[in-house]
Amino acid sequence: MCKSKGVKGRRKKLYVHHIRKWASASSLRYETGNGISLCYNCHKEVTGKEEHYEYYLLGLIDG
Ligand SMILES: [Zn+2]
Repeated sequence: MCKSKGVKGRRKKLYVHHIRKWASASSLRYETGNGISLCYNCHKEVTGKEEHYEYYLLGLIDG
């Protein structure tokens, strides 16, 4: 699983994933800490499994 750092320098399209689902965390919608840039493959992987990846992705941001 990458974050933006993993694909920096490469001309790959990045997808900003909202770690907390918008529906359940509307107040976090514009918090930068709630967003992480992922490549297409990783974004596809977390889509539909947001809750499963939430803790993991937050850890990536802190690191
Ligand atoms: Zn990736």
